[in-house]
This record gives sequence, structure tokens and C-alpha cells, in this order.
Amino acid sequence: MANPLSQVSVSTLKGVGPKIAEKLLAIGISSLEDLLFHLPFKYQDRSKVSAISGLMHGQTALIFGQIESTNIQFGKRRSLVCKISDESDLAEIRLFYFSAAQKNQFVVGEFVQCYGQVSINRHAVSMIHPEITFLREKEAPILERQLHPIYAASEGIQQRTLFSLTEQALKFLGPNNLTELLPKELLAKLGFPSLSDAIRLLHRPPLDISLAAIQSGQHPLMQRLAFEELMAQHLAMKRIKSHYAKRLSKPINYDKKSHEHFLSQLPFSLTNAQQRVSKEVEFDLAKEQPMMRLVQGDVGCGKTLVAALPMYQVALQGLQCVMMAPTEILAEQHYISFKNWFESFGIEVCLLTSKMKAPERRESLKNIESGKAKIILGTHAVFQAQVVFSNLRLVVIDEQHRFGVEQRKSLLEKSANQDALYPHQLIMTATPIPRTLSQTIYADLDLSVIDELPPGRMPIETTVINDAQRDKVISRVRQAIEKDHRQVYWVCTLIDESEELECQAAEAVFEQLSASLAPHKVGLIHGRMNSNDKQQIMRLFKQGKLALLVATTVIEVGVDVANASLMVIENPERLGLSQLHQLRGRVGRGQLQSYCLLMYHAPLSNNAKQRLEVMKETVDGFKIAEKDLEIRGAGEVLGTRQTGETLFRFADLLRDNHLLAKVQANAELIANSHPHLAKQLIERWVKKGQELVRV
Ligand code: ADP
Ligand code: MG
Repeated sequence: MANPLSQVSVSTLKGVGPKIAEKLLAIGISSLEDLLFHLPFKYQDRSKVSAISGLMHGQTALIFGQIESTNIQFGKRRSLVCKISDESDLAEIRLFYFSAAQKNQFVVGEFVQCYGQVSINRHAVSMIHPEITFLREKEAPILERQLHPIYAASEGIQQRTLFSLTEQALKFLGPNNLTELLPKELLAKLGFPSLSDAIRLLHRPPLDISLAAIQSGQHPLMQRLAFEELMAQHLAMKRIKSHYAKRLSKPINYDKKSHEHFLSQLPFSLTNAQQRVSKEVEFDLAKEQPMMRLVQGDVGCGKTLVAALPMYQVALQGLQCVMMAPTEILAEQHYISFKNWFESFGIEVCLLTSKMKAPERRESLKNIESGKAKIILGTHAVFQAQVVFSNLRLVVIDEQHRFGVEQRKSLLEKSANQDALYPHQLIMTATPIPRTLSQTIYADLDLSVIDELPPGRMPIETTVINDAQRDKVISRVRQAIEKDHRQVYWVCTLIDESEELECQAAEAVFEQLSASLAPHKVGLIHGRMNSNDKQQIMRLFKQGKLALLVATTVIEVGVDVANASLMVIENPERLGLSQLHQLRGRVGRGQLQSYCLLMYHAPLSNNAKQRLEVMKETVDGFKIAEKDLEIRGAGEVLGTRQTGETLFRFADLLRDNHLLAKVQANAELIANSHPHLAKQLIERWVKKGQELVRV
């Protein structure tokens, strides 16, 4: 059997010296297999010659003719103009960049063919910098018998080079040397081509192939690759799951009495959904295997409490638990809630963020290390190197979609270093994840859904309004404050991705609103303020001592003030749908009718108009997430945006959603009957470290 192409270096190809090899490596290509997985992103038809007289402006075409003349023209820009003729007409080829040697290649009387875009004006039919092939004495064009591939260009590697390299690599490609990792019976069942056929045809498609199907990714050739990739990801998740199943955790059995007592003290009872999910968590914690549970529930459904119950139980046993929140404000708010809930039971609650003052921070670090602090609330600061836990048994991640790969990874490492026991993990998200997707991409996690809001919540009424009517909005705000005794959020959105500018804008709005709403008190909160000031402002707002809070998008997640029932969002067109939904979820948290005013700046793009319309029409987080998925793509919605890389090379979670059920249905077959294939699939497709993404 021939060497598998994954073992053959690209350096064996003609034309690959150390320089090219290095450039190929930079785009992830070192073996012939890598090269063959580098697929064209579009194709051209160079199978037939077009007559010059029939060309249309803007069209891309192949022409063939005899060189009539060649001259250097000195107009606005110096250019080389070469006239060629076929039987129908005359055309000119124009080059603005050329060397003497290139000029000399145009020999009058010889034949050339050119492929490029046609430009037609009153004076001439021309092609500017087309691809030129000199045919010397031959009097016939070279026509391609397949579609011509165009590869993603990369610095220092030309199209021609990639064409020639793939041409060579395809010659090596036999039925046995590009390792087929999907079992034959599965390919037959799903009607998929073999890997080598798929690769060969995608590099050099026959002329009669359905190009539309290929370019939209619907063609079986593409679907096969997407399927293989999704399968690999799914198998990797399953592997992580079984890896965890072998680990040991400290089983936590609930002390029923204190659990019931705590619940009875709350001013409300748990919703059915909260009760169900709490039971699932309680059940998980009693096991010796680590809990790996994802809790999904729309904004305002009461996830914090669902996490607080097991944390209380862990603390009661003298053990530690930590909850990591994505922003300082949210961590601080959790800190306040947890203190209220648990300090009277003698449980030490502690805050740790990176913006705390040094002495307070030291104090927290000391209490965490000594084990005095039982419930720790913080930002990602809780997983930095200086933090030493004494006996960490439960980790809660709030709003997990806001964390990048690195943060989740360091969390895992931190937990693992401690001792042989793994902490239980509870991961919370407001991002609805379609079930098929969660079972494939989050296959390592058990899923609980809180599909119910506390009773009495009224849907938020949303209005879209032009910022030319700012005065009207301000009087509406004044009315809410004076007549209804309500509190108001005024959100300033990100300008040019700069936190500093955003804060400046918020300060200006703060000045302006303080003046126009006097004597009512206005507060300001943004990401550049120190931790104490932020806490102070949030406390005042919560206590009702501020009528209006000007905020940047830092309040997006989790902030909870029940009496705030009006939110104004400036320039909502700058934000994604899910972010708007999260923001808007800051109101409508009590029993009051709440309102949201989306104050846009005209003119709106069509896309923005459409998005704001969605916000107006629905408060259903699930529908909004689906729209978001349509508009922005899965990578963004799942929070891989922060990592700057896409999750998949070929698969597209939206387009290939229908494949997910097939992936699940056949995963067992591969994992059980072909375990060596499962291992190789993961090695081929799941980038090193990437498998930790969902941990
Ligand atoms: P989220 O799921 O968005 O994190 P929170 O946990 O912040 O939601 O809860 C939102 C608000 O609902 C909080 O004020 C919380 O105290 C309140 N809440 C939680 N559970 C209930 C319930 N069962 N009945 C009434 N209010 C509740
Ligand atoms: Mg929350």
C-alpha cells in the first residue's frame, strides 16, 4: 500500500523549496493530505473560447487570438498595450505593471490566450491584467476539460503555484492513500462519495457538475466533508464525557432541612422549571462522578437561584464553591445577593475581581487559601495563578457564552491541579441552543432547560424611534420617573470598538441627562470605573436612590433591579440581536409593565431595520436566537467569536443542521465498531486544544 498522504511532506513536490514550504506551513499545510484539504473557494469555466465580437462588458471570459501590435502608451499612466485579433474582432490587453522581459514576450504574429474580465468602452474592448498564456507557434487554444479551481490566496503563494501543487498531489492520490475514516457501510447508507473521490472532484470538478450546489455547500461532495468534520467534533465531545465519567468528585448530599428552610424564607416559591432543574442538579451532585451540566434559560428565568442552592449545600459542608461571572458588575451583584441570602447562616461569602483595591484583594486571596471563604463570587480573576483554593468542590460559570476558550481552559487546569478530586461543574447560559446542536457540539454536557419565567412577568413593550426625537424620549423618561415612580436605564452603545470612547460618550450623556432631568438623581456606570465606585452606584440604584442610570453595555448581563421598568438604548443598530435581548432583559424583571425604546440613528441599513423589527415583534429569546443565527452565523452565536477562529473548516452549523441528527445516529457505530477510526477522526479534524472549548 502506498504511503498515506498525511505522511508525505509537501517538500517532495516540484517547486516547493524551503521558502514556499514555510509559506505553506503558515496556512497550515505541511503534508500532501493538508494540501488536498485546502479546497478551492470558487471555480472558473475555461473550457471554451469566446469570440471577441460577442463579449459583454463585465463578463469574465477566455479569448484567443494573434498578436497584431504591442506598444507602450504614455497617458495618465504608463501602460503596455497589446492588440490581438481573432476572426471576429480586435481586443486590447493592457498591463500597468510590466517588465522589459514581459514586453518582449508579446511577439507580433504569435498566438496568445487570455482569461480575465472584459471591459468595453467607446474606443476598445479590453482586458486589464488578464491571465495570459503564450502559445508560441501553436494555432489552437489550450482548453481545460474541468472547471478551473481558485484557491484562497495567501501571501507569497500564487494561484499558479497552488494549481501546480494540487495538480501534482492529485496525481499521487490513489484509493488507499488518503485514509478513508468513514466506514464503507456508512458511506453507502448515507449516499456519500469516498473521501478520495470527494477531494478529487472538488479540486477539479467536471464541467457538468452543479456549481451552484457546490458553492452553496449542498452538494454531496461538500456534505460528506461537513459530515465527517461534525462527526469528529461529536466524537471528541463524547470522549471528554467519558473521560470525566472516570474521574471522581466529592459527592454532595443535600441537608434537606436547611435546603427547605432557605427556600421557605424566599419571598416567592420556585417555578416548576426551577424545581425540576434544581432536582437534576441535586441528583448529579450526589454522584461520585463530576457533574457536567449546562443550564439554559432565557434572561430573567431565575438561573442565579438555581445555582445558589447547590452552592449553599457545598458551603454547609465546609467546602468551597466558586461562581465566575463575565463582568465585574455582575460578579458584584451576585456578591450582594449571596451575602443577603447566606451570611445570616454564618456562611462566608467573598468577592474576587481584578479591579478590587489591593488590600481587599489580598484579604480575599487569604480567605480563599485558608478555606475560610466558602462561597466565592468573581470574574475570571478567580482562576488566575495567585488564587489557591483550599477545597474547591463546585464551579459555576455564569453566562458561559461570554467566555473565550482560554478562560475556560484555565478554569479546567486550575480545578485539575488541586487534588485527585474534580469539582462538579454547572454552566449557565441564556443563549438558547437548539437541541440537535447541543447534543452534537455540547455532547459532553448534560442539558437542563428552564423554560418558564416567574409568574406575573409582562412582556416588554418595545418601540423603535429615531434619535431626532430625543426630546420626546426624555419627556417620556421624566414621566416614568415622576408619575409612575419608576427607574430607568439609559444605555450608550459601543462606538468604534473602543471602551474608552464608549465611556466618554456615556459621560456626556450623563451630564446632559443630569441637567435635563433635575432635580431627579442620575447615576453613571461604565467599565472604566473602579470596583468600589461601581458597587456604590449599583447599590444606590437598587435602593431606588437614583432615578436613572446611564450605563454602557457593561450592564448587559445579569443586572437585576425590579423597579427599573424603562430602558432606552441608544444606537441599538450597532448591536447584535442576542446582545439587545440580553440588555432588554434588564427590565421586565418584576411585576411591572416594562418598556424598551430603541433609539436609532438614521439612516438604517436594511439588515439593521430587519433586526430592530425582530426586537419589536418578539421577546422570545429562542426566536431571537434563531434570527441571530440566520443573520450572523453560528460561530458568533455560540461565542467562538472571541477566539477569533471558526469552529469548523467545512461544516456550517446553520446550513448543515440536518446532518446533526445523522451524526448522532451513527456515532455509536463508529465509536464501538471502529474505535481506531474514531481516534483518527478526532486527530484529523479537532484542532489541538479545541476539544476544551466546551469544557
Ligand atoms: P437570570 O436567569 O437571567 O440569571 P436571575 O437569576 O437574575 O435571572 O433572576 C431574575 C429575577 O427573578 C431576580 O430578581 C430573582 O430574584 C427573581 N426570581 C427568581 N426566581 C423567581 C421565582 N421563582 N419567582 C419570582 N421571582 C423570581
Ligand atoms: Mg443571570
